[in-house]
Amino acid sequence: MTLHRLTIHEAHDLLRERRISAVELTESVLSQIDRHDEEIKAYITVTPEVALEQARRADELISAGEARPLTGIPVAIKDNMCTRGVPTTCGSRMLENFVPPYSATVVGRLYDEGAVLVGKANMDEFAMGSSTEYSAFFPTHNPWDASRVPGGSSGGAAAAVAANETLFALGSDTGGSIRQPAALCGVTGLKPTYGRVSRYGLIAFASSLDQIGPLTKDVRDCALVMNALAFHDPQDSTSASKSTPDYTSYLTDDLTGVVVGVPTEYFATGLDSGVEERVRDAIAKLAELGAEIREISMPHEQYVVATYFLTSWAEASANLARYDGVKYGLFAPDAQDIGEAQSKARGRGFGREVKRRIMLGTYALSSGYYDAYYLNAQKVRTLVKEDFDRAFAEGVDVVVGPTSPIVAFGIGELVDDPLEMYLSDLYTIPANLAGLPCISIPCGFHEGLPVGFQIMGRPFAEGTVLTVAYAFEQSTDFHLQRPSIGT
Ligand code: GLN
Repeated sequence: MTLHRLTIHEAHDLLRERRISAVELTESVLSQIDRHDEEIKAYITVTPEVALEQARRADELISAGEARPLTGIPVAIKDNMCTRGVPTTCGSRMLENFVPPYSATVVGRLYDEGAVLVGKANMDEFAMGSSTEYSAFFPTHNPWDASRVPGGSSGGAAAAVAANETLFALGSDTGGSIRQPAALCGVTGLKPTYGRVSRYGLIAFASSLDQIGPLTKDVRDCALVMNALAFHDPQDSTSASKSTPDYTSYLTDDLTGVVVGVPTEYFATGLDSGVEERVRDAIAKLAELGAEIREISMPHEQYVVATYFLTSWAEASANLARYDGVKYGLFAPDAQDIGEAQSKARGRGFGREVKRRIMLGTYALSSGYYDAYYLNAQKVRTLVKEDFDRAFAEGVDVVVGPTSPIVAFGIGELVDDPLEMYLSDLYTIPANLAGLPCISIPCGFHEGLPVGFQIMGRPFAEGTVLTVAYAFEQSTDFHLQRPSIGT
């Protein structure tokens, strides 16, 4: 049985025609997990019972002629999204025993659509990291080369999709955590416009930057999942009250008239020459497909890493204050008083990277330093956004470049060099600072490892981003290539 290799749209056609059942599809994915997850370690929790129960229910819906595009389709959810009754650890000892009493809005929506939860995907603790090595439990391995990282922080989600251990996954992206692992694992990952998808039930990292989005095997699947995820949620005050287009209607292969901006600053030092070559080839392909390529400038690109980390550390230090061992988090039974209980809970519950960020963020918000750090970061954030506003005002439809300056690196290679790890986020961060939709799609290989191509659009122009991504994808076959483990 090779049903686990199907895309969502392929599986949907077979399910609807009753040529396969949701139970068969789910069993195929669960056995792929059984065979390979000991090596890949994409999942913190696998949920076979929930999955089979949901699959049976999906088969009933399908028999009743009520098959929706995600009915009966297996999904992996990053472990920072609440799933009622299913442990949600956020990759942290702090939440090791947390079983949420409710589901995130997006999870509820997927359940309503008939999707099948196969498990909760590994991640860097509290989504802080770019390699999944900061998971409190274990690192995830890249399906293309198990000695390398899958990227992060949604590394488990990306690896699960690449290894065919699910048909699709949901990740979260604060500074690149959907797109960078998608790039490093050779899959498709979309960070929607800030506000497009509800964050209710997503465990907060940096609330002004966090967005949930899909990781899929191709662009059509990405559009199908977005159809389910994009709607107004009154439970999230930043959720946009915009109507949801049918994103699949944007999947055309004609780019005539589309203006593609290529920032000079996205091809700076530090960009691996092999990655650059693939990305330049991708841009040439867009020109072949009818797009107008225009060189542009993003003068504030050099400040994005500092701006992002100051902002996200500050927000994280506030968001993570709730883990006090009383209301949330690890309980310290040996403490004598409340102060000691809190300090023991936080001392034991958080890993090194999370502690580092809480300390730096607290410092950046403290009296006397607030203006110099946090406030300045907010001003620079506006300048970064204005770089994009200018390009869009001058007629640019999408801004493109590399997703990551490097291909998947070795496990252990950067884990003790946080600064180097932070710097590798330089191309994904701008879309978060400016709140823009941005997709990463596979655009080739360098030294046998996948390279990601990033396409950013105007706010709420997910459709345009999908058009460009789809046109490129359909004229190449990179998205069809799978690591041998995925077969
Ligand atoms: N790698 C970035 C960080 O370490 C992004 C994380 C994310 O998007 N959640 O913060």
